[in-house]
Amino acid sequence: MIIKTDPDIIKGYFEDYSGLLGGYADKVILPENEKEARDILLEAGAKKIPVTISGGGTGVTGARIPFGGWVIATERLNKIIEINDKTLTATLQPGVRLTELENELSKKGLTYLPDPTEPNAFLGGTISTNASGAKGFKYGPTRDYIKRLKILLSTGDTIDIKRGDYFINTGEIFPLRLKDKEIKIKIPDYSMPEIKTAAGYYIKNHMDLLDLFIGHEGTLGLILEADIALGKKPEEVMSFFSFFSSEDDAISFVKDAKTYKAMSLEYMDANSLSLLRIKYPNIPKYAKGLIYFEQDYKKEFESGVVDSWTKLLEKHKALMEDSYFADSDKERTKLKELRHALPDAVNEIVKKNKMPKVGTDIAVPDKCFKEMLKFYKEKLASSGIDYVVFGHIGESHMHVNMLPKTEEEFKKSRLVYMKFVKKAVSLGGTVSAEHGIGKLKHLFLEIMYGKDNLKQMALLKKSLDPSCVLGLDNIFPKELLK
Ligand SMILES: Cc1cc2nc3c(=O)[nH]c(=O)nc-3n(C[C@H](O)[C@H](O)[C@H](O)COP(=O)(O)OP(=O)(O)OC[C@H]3O[C@@H](n4cnc5c(N)ncnc54)[C@H](O)[C@@H]3O)c2cc1C
Repeated sequence: MIIKTDPDIIKGYFEDYSGLLGGYADKVILPENEKEARDILLEAGAKKIPVTISGGGTGVTGARIPFGGWVIATERLNKIIEINDKTLTATLQPGVRLTELENELSKKGLTYLPDPTEPNAFLGGTISTNASGAKGFKYGPTRDYIKRLKILLSTGDTIDIKRGDYFINTGEIFPLRLKDKEIKIKIPDYSMPEIKTAAGYYIKNHMDLLDLFIGHEGTLGLILEADIALGKKPEEVMSFFSFFSSEDDAISFVKDAKTYKAMSLEYMDANSLSLLRIKYPNIPKYAKGLIYFEQDYKKEFESGVVDSWTKLLEKHKALMEDSYFADSDKERTKLKELRHALPDAVNEIVKKNKMPKVGTDIAVPDKCFKEMLKFYKEKLASSGIDYVVFGHIGESHMHVNMLPKTEEEFKKSRLVYMKFVKKAVSLGGTVSAEHGIGKLKHLFLEIMYGKDNLKQMALLKKSLDPSCVLGLDNIFPKELLK
């Protein structure tokens, strides 16, 4: 095991992409096997030393940032134990980087279908946040691909469960039998919205126990190993970057496009395009909205696929001459880079403004999407704050990024955010569809579920982490553990 204490070296673990400042810890410990990880957790549990688990550090909610105690960093638990192309499964340690996983799978003609998030994220981080990606529209979030987890608790006990082993009910005390003891898990009884969500613990009546450990944000245990489901690489993929001269045209295109089973259906608004134009001046000046989508298909059906998308794009007045189309890996990579250039451009503005962005992760039921988008636009226009709106329009899940230039604008952005949260909750939405709650959105989760349900989450945590050392202040305030 490696232990790092040099402040200059460990300070990198005190940040992620949230902009949350002030993190600190006594040391960062990098276990190399299960025994070492258990020894660390047992000592921390006995001495009640807070432990924050760190993955790739690409999170955007401050969840891996420690405020005291120790950090367990997972980068040396990074073995790809097995890739089985017969059963289409892989067994992995948590520190495997997604980009490395995809490289290895690609050699065997396989892929990890949910393709969650940022390539530098670790598998453990994506399970712990139930991350999704651009292909979430077709393939759903990480949760749907987890078949088995081995989890190390702060008590030193290991839970090794497969999907289908145990089912639990809301409101019950579930007795989980381990080798030499029984853990009584208190299952909350709140109801989650029936949409894409990563807000708080996953709770449903008659749910698989495995699902409780997906999206727990490092609060219940250390994920030591996972079996994931794989898919075959699609035979062919086409990607489209389709520009529209009005946002309304882009949005009405999406309504029809949802029935076409694309892999992804993503949106950028007029302000996002203006920002991208700085680096990519060829983006047409009159474009006011963009839909990025990818379609998988078999070679024999290519002309039919092109035909039907072309007709749909023409019907909704897409700027056909100006749009980009890619059907080779090389071209597709260029479009992916263009898509990724937006978060980079946003980060550049943040640096220039020297003010953190205020970014949302709200999703609402499909039937309320138009109402929510109108609400965003009205409130943003009257705020006078610079902003971009982009994201997973296929799942009615937008990221509004407000880019304040002054302290006053920052405070105003937080107030506008609160209005968005209240509106979304009133429409049956979620305050986080993919990033999780971390240390920054406790209040939003309270608005969504109410304080009593946050207390139920705290009780659930206590039943698995009785010494209350893991991932403190993630999901709900640590004061609720008292
Ligand atoms: C440019 C950019 C784009 C992004 N796009 C998306 C997107 O499209 N969709 C999306 O969902 N997210 C997105 N994210 C957010 C981020 O990539 C995800 O939240 C990701 O899942 C974090 O993984 P990580 O390994 O970096 O975790 P970290 O940031 O290191 O940690 C996140 C959480 O996981 C916990 N954790 C990590 N490893 C373990 C483990 N082994 N056991 C238990 N808990 C653990 C940590 O304690 C923490 O609570 C994006 C981020 C960036 C910077």
